[in-house]
Amino acid sequence: MAIGGQLHQAENWAKQAIERLRREGLPPVPNNYAVYYCYFSGENPNLTMAMDVLLNQYGALTQQQCTELYQVHLGLEAEQKMLKNSNTAIEAELKHVLNIIDKAASGTNKFSQTLDTFSGKLETTASLDQIRDMVKKVAAETRVMAEQNQRLHTQLAQSTQQLTEVRFNLDVVRKESLVDPLTEVGNRKFFNNELARATVEAEETQMPLTLLVIDIDHFKKFNDSYGHIVGDQVLRLVARTLVENLKGRDIIARYGGEEFVILLPQTRVTDAEKVANQLRASLGTKQIRRRSTNETLGVITISIGATEYCIGEEAETFIARADSALYEAKQTGRNKVVSQLMSPEQIAALKAKTDSKTS
Ligand code: GH3
Ligand code: MG
Ligand code: MG
Repeated sequence: MAIGGQLHQAENWAKQAIERLRREGLPPVPNNYAVYYCYFSGENPNLTMAMDVLLNQYGALTQQQCTELYQVHLGLEAEQKMLKNSNTAIEAELKHVLNIIDKAASGTNKFSQTLDTFSGKLETTASLDQIRDMVKKVAAETRVMAEQNQRLHTQLAQSTQQLTEVRFNLDVVRKESLVDPLTEVGNRKFFNNELARATVEAEETQMPLTLLVIDIDHFKKFNDSYGHIVGDQVLRLVARTLVENLKGRDIIARYGGEEFVILLPQTRVTDAEKVANQLRASLGTKQIRRRSTNETLGVITISIGATEYCIGEEAETFIARADSALYEAKQTGRNKVVSQLMSPEQIAALKAKTDSKTS
Protein backbone atom coordinates (compact mmCIF):
# COMPACT_ATOMS: atom_id res chain seq x y z
CA MET A 1 0.00 0.00 0.00
CA ALA A 2 1.17 3.56 -0.70
CA ILE A 3 2.55 5.50 2.26
CA GLY A 4 -0.27 8.06 1.98
CA GLY A 5 -2.87 5.28 2.23
CA GLN A 6 -1.20 3.79 5.30
CA LEU A 7 -1.12 7.16 7.01
CA HIS A 8 -4.74 7.77 6.18
CA GLN A 9 -5.68 4.42 7.70
CA ALA A 10 -3.58 5.04 10.80
CA GLU A 11 -5.35 8.36 11.21
CA ASN A 12 -8.74 6.63 10.98
CA TRP A 13 -7.79 4.08 13.64
CA ALA A 14 -6.53 6.86 15.87
CA LYS A 15 -9.80 8.77 15.46
CA GLN A 16 -11.86 5.67 16.15
CA ALA A 17 -9.77 4.90 19.26
CA ILE A 18 -10.16 8.40 20.71
CA GLU A 19 -13.87 8.55 19.87
CA ARG A 20 -14.48 5.17 21.52
CA LEU A 21 -12.48 6.07 24.66
CA ARG A 22 -14.60 9.19 25.02
CA ARG A 23 -17.84 7.22 24.55
CA GLU A 24 -16.83 4.64 27.17
CA GLY A 25 -15.75 7.34 29.62
CA LEU A 26 -12.11 6.18 29.73
CA PRO A 27 -9.37 8.82 29.96
CA PRO A 28 -7.40 9.13 26.69
CA VAL A 29 -4.05 8.37 28.36
CA PRO A 30 -1.40 6.65 26.20
CA ASN A 31 -2.01 3.09 27.50
CA ASN A 32 -5.78 3.24 26.96
CA TYR A 33 -5.20 4.80 23.57
CA ALA A 34 -2.74 2.05 22.63
CA VAL A 35 -5.26 -0.68 23.55
CA TYR A 36 -8.04 0.83 21.43
CA TYR A 37 -5.73 1.75 18.57
CA CYS A 38 -4.52 -1.86 18.36
CA TYR A 39 -8.10 -3.08 18.59
CA PHE A 40 -9.16 -1.05 15.56
CA SER A 41 -6.01 -1.72 13.55
CA GLY A 42 -6.31 -5.45 14.33
CA GLU A 43 -2.51 -5.69 14.46
CA ASN A 44 -2.61 -7.80 17.62
CA PRO A 45 -5.15 -10.64 17.04
CA ASN A 46 -4.91 -11.90 20.64
CA LEU A 47 -5.79 -8.47 22.02
CA THR A 48 -8.66 -8.09 19.54
CA MET A 49 -10.03 -11.51 20.53
CA ALA A 50 -9.80 -10.84 24.28
CA MET A 51 -11.33 -7.40 23.86
CA ASP A 52 -14.20 -8.70 21.70
CA VAL A 53 -15.12 -11.14 24.46
CA LEU A 54 -15.23 -8.32 27.04
CA LEU A 55 -17.09 -5.90 24.76
CA ASN A 56 -19.67 -8.54 23.82
CA GLN A 57 -20.26 -9.27 27.47
CA TYR A 58 -20.18 -5.78 29.00
CA GLY A 59 -20.54 -3.35 26.09
CA ALA A 60 -17.61 -1.23 27.35
CA LEU A 61 -14.31 -1.73 29.17
CA THR A 62 -13.57 -0.61 32.72
CA GLN A 63 -10.27 1.11 33.42
CA GLN A 64 -9.07 -2.03 35.18
CA GLN A 65 -9.91 -4.25 32.18
CA CYS A 66 -8.18 -1.80 29.88
CA THR A 67 -5.08 -1.73 32.10
CA GLU A 68 -4.99 -5.52 32.22
CA LEU A 69 -5.35 -5.81 28.44
CA TYR A 70 -2.47 -3.38 28.09
CA GLN A 71 -0.27 -5.25 30.52
CA VAL A 72 -0.95 -8.67 29.00
CA HIS A 73 -0.86 -7.78 25.32
CA LEU A 74 1.10 -4.57 25.00
CA GLY A 75 3.25 -4.53 28.16
CA LEU A 76 6.99 -4.44 28.50
CA GLU A 77 7.71 -7.15 25.94
CA ALA A 78 5.44 -5.56 23.36
CA GLU A 79 6.97 -2.20 24.15
CA GLN A 80 10.48 -3.52 23.50
CA LYS A 81 9.28 -5.08 20.26
CA MET A 82 7.79 -1.79 19.14
CA LEU A 83 11.01 0.05 20.01
CA LYS A 84 12.96 -2.51 17.97
CA ASN A 85 10.55 -2.20 15.04
CA SER A 86 10.73 1.58 15.23
CA ASN A 87 14.51 1.45 15.14
CA THR A 88 14.46 -0.84 12.12
CA ALA A 89 11.92 1.45 10.44
CA ILE A 90 14.08 4.50 11.11
CA GLU A 91 17.14 2.74 9.71
CA ALA A 92 15.26 1.68 6.58
CA GLU A 93 13.88 5.18 6.04
CA LEU A 94 17.31 6.75 6.49
CA LYS A 95 18.77 4.37 3.91
CA HIS A 96 15.96 5.32 1.58
CA VAL A 97 16.61 9.05 2.08
CA LEU A 98 20.35 8.57 1.44
CA ASN A 99 19.50 6.67 -1.71
CA ILE A 100 17.30 9.54 -2.92
CA ILE A 101 20.05 12.04 -2.22
CA ASP A 102 22.53 9.85 -4.15
CA LYS A 103 20.17 9.71 -7.10
CA ALA A 104 19.74 13.49 -7.01
CA ALA A 105 23.52 13.94 -6.99
CA SER A 106 24.09 11.59 -9.93
CA GLY A 107 21.26 13.32 -11.88
CA THR A 108 22.92 16.69 -11.34
CA ASN A 109 26.27 15.29 -12.46
CA LYS A 110 24.81 13.97 -15.67
CA PHE A 111 23.11 17.29 -16.34
CA SER A 112 26.28 19.29 -15.84
CA GLN A 113 28.16 16.86 -18.13
CA THR A 114 25.57 17.56 -20.85
CA LEU A 115 26.05 21.30 -20.35
CA ASP A 116 29.85 20.92 -20.50
CA THR A 117 29.62 18.98 -23.76
CA PHE A 118 27.25 21.62 -25.11
CA SER A 119 29.55 24.52 -24.29
CA GLY A 120 32.56 22.56 -25.60
CA LYS A 121 30.77 21.95 -28.88
CA LEU A 122 29.63 25.59 -29.06
CA GLU A 123 33.26 26.68 -29.17
CA THR A 124 34.00 24.44 -32.15
CA THR A 125 30.70 24.56 -34.01
CA ALA A 126 29.47 27.37 -36.20
CA SER A 127 26.41 25.92 -37.96
CA LEU A 128 23.10 27.40 -36.83
CA ASP A 129 21.34 24.06 -37.37
CA GLN A 130 23.79 22.31 -35.11
CA ILE A 131 23.33 24.96 -32.41
CA ARG A 132 19.53 24.65 -32.72
CA ASP A 133 19.85 20.89 -32.38
CA MET A 134 22.00 21.22 -29.28
CA VAL A 135 19.65 23.74 -27.64
CA LYS A 136 16.80 21.26 -28.20
CA LYS A 137 18.83 18.51 -26.52
CA VAL A 138 19.64 20.73 -23.55
CA ALA A 139 15.96 21.73 -23.23
CA ALA A 140 14.96 18.03 -23.21
CA GLU A 141 17.64 17.25 -20.60
CA THR A 142 16.42 20.17 -18.49
CA ARG A 143 12.87 18.80 -18.60
CA VAL A 144 14.06 15.32 -17.56
CA MET A 145 16.07 16.87 -14.77
CA ALA A 146 13.09 18.94 -13.53
CA GLU A 147 10.79 15.90 -13.57
CA GLN A 148 13.36 13.82 -11.75
CA ASN A 149 13.77 16.56 -9.14
CA GLN A 150 10.02 16.72 -8.65
CA ARG A 151 9.89 12.94 -8.15
CA LEU A 152 12.77 13.02 -5.67
CA HIS A 153 11.14 15.88 -3.86
CA THR A 154 7.90 13.91 -3.44
CA GLN A 155 9.82 10.85 -2.25
CA LEU A 156 11.74 12.92 0.29
CA ALA A 157 8.52 14.47 1.57
CA GLN A 158 6.98 11.01 1.99
CA SER A 159 10.04 9.74 3.83
CA THR A 160 9.98 12.73 6.14
CA GLN A 161 6.33 12.07 6.92
CA GLN A 162 7.10 8.41 7.60
CA LEU A 163 9.95 9.37 9.93
CA THR A 164 7.70 11.82 11.78
CA GLU A 165 5.14 9.07 12.32
CA VAL A 166 7.77 6.64 13.59
CA ARG A 167 9.13 9.33 15.92
CA PHE A 168 5.61 10.00 17.24
CA ASN A 169 5.19 6.28 18.00
CA LEU A 170 8.54 6.25 19.77
CA ASP A 171 7.57 9.26 21.86
CA VAL A 172 4.33 7.54 22.87
CA VAL A 173 6.22 4.41 23.88
CA ARG A 174 8.85 6.37 25.82
CA LYS A 175 6.20 8.38 27.64
CA GLU A 176 4.15 5.29 28.36
CA SER A 177 7.09 3.50 29.84
CA LEU A 178 7.60 6.27 32.43
CA VAL A 179 3.99 6.99 33.44
CA ASP A 180 1.85 5.06 35.90
CA PRO A 181 -1.38 4.41 33.97
CA LEU A 182 -3.67 4.42 37.02
CA THR A 183 -2.63 7.67 38.67
CA GLU A 184 -0.90 9.30 35.70
CA VAL A 185 2.09 10.36 37.79
CA GLY A 186 5.59 9.02 37.00
CA ASN A 187 6.33 5.38 37.71
CA ARG A 188 9.26 3.76 39.51
CA LYS A 189 11.46 3.83 36.41
CA PHE A 190 10.78 7.56 36.05
CA PHE A 191 11.64 8.06 39.72
CA ASN A 192 14.91 6.15 39.44
CA ASN A 193 15.95 8.30 36.46
CA GLU A 194 15.00 11.50 38.25
CA LEU A 195 16.71 10.44 41.47
CA ALA A 196 19.97 9.80 39.62
CA ARG A 197 19.72 13.23 37.98
CA ALA A 198 18.74 15.03 41.22
CA THR A 199 21.58 13.55 43.29
CA VAL A 200 24.14 14.62 40.69
CA GLU A 201 22.59 18.10 40.68
CA ALA A 202 22.71 18.24 44.50
CA GLU A 203 26.38 17.30 44.43
CA GLU A 204 27.20 19.85 41.76
CA THR A 205 25.25 22.72 43.31
CA GLN A 206 25.82 21.71 46.94
CA MET A 207 22.10 22.35 47.47
CA PRO A 208 20.02 20.14 49.75
CA LEU A 209 17.72 17.44 48.38
CA THR A 210 14.97 15.79 50.40
CA LEU A 211 13.05 12.60 49.75
CA LEU A 212 9.55 11.87 51.06
CA VAL A 213 8.23 8.30 51.04
CA ILE A 214 4.46 8.25 51.45
CA ASP A 215 2.32 5.24 52.26
CA ILE A 216 -1.48 5.11 52.63
CA ASP A 217 -2.56 3.95 56.08
CA HIS A 218 -4.57 0.73 56.47
CA PHE A 219 -5.20 0.62 52.76
CA LYS A 220 -5.65 -3.13 52.74
CA LYS A 221 -8.59 -2.81 55.13
CA PHE A 222 -10.04 -0.08 52.90
CA ASN A 223 -9.72 -2.28 49.81
CA ASP A 224 -11.16 -5.29 51.59
CA SER A 225 -14.14 -3.29 52.84
CA TYR A 226 -15.02 -1.32 49.73
CA GLY A 227 -13.39 -3.18 46.86
CA HIS A 228 -10.56 -2.53 44.41
CA ILE A 229 -12.45 -0.07 42.23
CA VAL A 230 -12.92 2.31 45.16
CA GLY A 231 -9.32 1.57 46.17
CA ASP A 232 -8.13 2.66 42.74
CA GLN A 233 -10.22 5.81 43.01
CA VAL A 234 -8.45 6.57 46.31
CA LEU A 235 -5.04 6.06 44.72
CA ARG A 236 -5.97 8.59 42.05
CA LEU A 237 -7.24 11.03 44.68
CA VAL A 238 -4.03 10.75 46.70
CA ALA A 239 -1.89 11.27 43.59
CA ARG A 240 -3.97 14.30 42.57
CA THR A 241 -3.75 15.81 46.07
CA LEU A 242 0.03 15.39 46.12
CA VAL A 243 0.41 16.94 42.67
CA GLU A 244 -1.84 19.88 43.58
CA ASN A 245 0.28 20.72 46.61
CA LEU A 246 3.72 20.58 44.98
CA LYS A 247 5.84 23.14 43.19
CA GLY A 248 7.00 22.87 39.59
CA ARG A 249 10.48 21.53 40.28
CA ASP A 250 9.31 18.85 42.76
CA ILE A 251 9.20 15.31 41.43
CA ILE A 252 6.47 12.84 42.25
CA ALA A 253 6.12 9.18 41.34
CA ARG A 254 4.15 6.09 42.31
CA TYR A 255 6.82 3.83 43.72
CA GLY A 256 4.57 0.77 43.85
CA GLY A 257 1.21 -0.40 45.26
CA GLU A 258 -0.05 2.35 47.60
CA GLU A 259 3.31 4.03 48.02
CA PHE A 260 4.37 7.35 46.51
CA VAL A 261 7.72 9.16 46.51
CA ILE A 262 8.45 12.86 46.23
CA LEU A 263 11.83 14.48 45.60
CA LEU A 264 12.14 18.06 46.81
CA PRO A 265 15.23 19.70 45.30
CA GLN A 266 16.78 22.69 47.10
CA THR A 267 14.84 21.81 50.24
CA ARG A 268 16.13 21.01 53.73
CA VAL A 269 14.49 18.18 55.60
CA THR A 270 13.06 20.59 58.20
CA ASP A 271 11.23 22.52 55.43
CA ALA A 272 10.23 19.28 53.72
CA GLU A 273 8.54 18.23 56.98
CA LYS A 274 6.29 21.28 56.67
CA VAL A 275 5.46 20.38 53.07
CA ALA A 276 4.74 16.80 54.15
CA ASN A 277 2.39 17.95 56.89
CA GLN A 278 0.57 20.19 54.38
CA LEU A 279 0.11 17.16 52.13
CA ARG A 280 -1.37 15.23 55.06
CA ALA A 281 -3.65 18.13 55.99
CA SER A 282 -4.83 18.62 52.42
CA LEU A 283 -5.74 14.93 52.09
CA GLY A 284 -7.49 15.14 55.46
CA THR A 285 -10.01 17.62 54.03
CA LYS A 286 -11.15 15.21 51.31
CA GLN A 287 -14.07 12.92 51.96
CA ILE A 288 -14.05 9.66 50.02
CA ARG A 289 -17.42 8.92 48.45
CA ARG A 290 -18.62 5.83 46.64
CA ARG A 291 -19.49 7.19 43.20
CA SER A 292 -22.45 4.92 42.54
CA THR A 293 -24.33 5.70 45.79
CA ASN A 294 -22.61 8.90 46.97
CA GLU A 295 -22.16 7.12 50.32
CA THR A 296 -19.44 8.70 52.50
CA LEU A 297 -16.58 6.34 53.27
CA GLY A 298 -14.54 8.65 55.50
CA VAL A 299 -11.12 10.19 55.00
CA ILE A 300 -7.83 8.57 54.11
CA THR A 301 -4.63 9.19 56.04
CA ILE A 302 -1.02 8.82 55.00
CA SER A 303 2.26 8.27 56.82
CA ILE A 304 5.39 9.96 55.54
CA GLY A 305 9.10 9.29 56.00
CA ALA A 306 11.49 12.15 55.15
CA THR A 307 15.24 12.22 54.77
CA GLU A 308 17.87 14.55 53.34
CA TYR A 309 20.45 13.39 50.83
CA CYS A 310 24.04 13.18 52.00
CA ILE A 311 26.61 13.95 49.32
CA GLY A 312 28.31 10.75 48.18
CA GLU A 313 25.55 8.51 49.46
CA GLU A 314 24.25 5.62 47.29
CA ALA A 315 20.67 6.03 46.00
CA GLU A 316 19.68 2.76 47.72
CA THR A 317 20.83 3.99 51.14
CA PHE A 318 19.05 7.29 50.64
CA ILE A 319 15.78 5.48 49.89
CA ALA A 320 16.35 2.96 52.68
CA ARG A 321 16.76 5.79 55.22
CA ALA A 322 13.49 7.42 54.11
CA ASP A 323 11.85 3.99 54.28
CA SER A 324 13.02 3.45 57.82
CA ALA A 325 11.61 6.86 58.78
CA LEU A 326 8.31 5.77 57.22
CA TYR A 327 8.47 2.53 59.20
CA GLU A 328 8.89 4.51 62.37
CA ALA A 329 5.88 6.69 61.44
CA LYS A 330 3.81 3.51 61.01
CA GLN A 331 5.08 2.01 64.26
CA THR A 332 4.35 5.12 66.28
CA GLY A 333 0.74 5.66 65.31
CA ARG A 334 0.49 6.43 61.53
CA ASN A 335 -0.98 9.65 60.00
CA LYS A 336 2.25 11.51 60.76
CA VAL A 337 5.60 12.63 59.37
CA VAL A 338 8.87 11.26 60.73
CA SER A 339 12.19 12.50 59.46
CA GLN A 340 15.47 10.75 59.76
CA LEU A 341 18.82 12.44 59.79
CA MET A 342 22.07 10.59 59.45
CA SER A 343 23.74 9.84 62.75
CA PRO A 344 27.21 11.39 63.27
CA GLU A 345 28.65 7.84 62.95
CA GLN A 346 26.88 7.32 59.60
CA ILE A 347 28.17 10.69 58.32
CA ALA A 348 31.72 9.88 59.43
CA ALA A 349 31.56 6.44 57.76
CA LEU A 350 30.24 7.97 54.54
CA LYS A 351 32.89 10.68 54.56
CA ALA A 352 35.64 8.09 55.03
CA LYS A 353 34.23 6.10 52.11
CA THR A 354 33.99 9.08 49.71
CA ASP A 355 37.45 10.33 50.78
CA SER A 356 38.99 6.95 50.04
CA LYS A 357 37.29 6.95 46.60
CA THR A 358 38.59 10.38 45.64
CA SER A 359 42.14 10.03 47.02
P1 GH3 B 1 -0.18 0.20 56.59
O1 GH3 B 1 -0.94 1.27 57.26
O2 GH3 B 1 0.74 -0.51 57.52
O3 GH3 B 1 0.53 0.70 55.40
O4 GH3 B 1 -1.23 -0.89 56.13
P2 GH3 B 1 -1.72 -1.20 54.67
O5 GH3 B 1 -2.93 -2.03 54.76
O6 GH3 B 1 -1.85 0.05 53.88
O7 GH3 B 1 -0.46 -1.95 54.06
P3 GH3 B 1 -0.28 -3.31 53.34
O8 GH3 B 1 1.07 -3.25 52.72
O9 GH3 B 1 -0.58 -4.46 54.26
O10 GH3 B 1 -1.37 -3.36 52.19
C1 GH3 B 1 -1.27 -2.58 51.07
C2 GH3 B 1 -2.54 -2.79 50.26
O11 GH3 B 1 -2.61 -1.87 49.20
C3 GH3 B 1 -2.64 -4.14 49.61
C4 GH3 B 1 -3.59 -3.91 48.49
O12 GH3 B 1 -4.89 -4.22 48.94
C5 GH3 B 1 -3.51 -2.39 48.26
N1 GH3 B 1 -3.06 -2.04 46.92
C6 GH3 B 1 -1.81 -2.05 46.43
N2 GH3 B 1 -1.79 -1.68 45.12
C7 GH3 B 1 -3.08 -1.41 44.77
C8 GH3 B 1 -3.73 -0.99 43.56
O13 GH3 B 1 -3.11 -0.77 42.51
N3 GH3 B 1 -5.07 -0.82 43.60
C9 GH3 B 1 -5.78 -1.05 44.75
N4 GH3 B 1 -7.09 -0.87 44.72
N5 GH3 B 1 -5.21 -1.47 45.88
C10 GH3 B 1 -3.87 -1.64 45.90
MG1 MG C 1 2.76 -0.20 51.67
MG1 MG D 1 -0.13 1.19 53.49
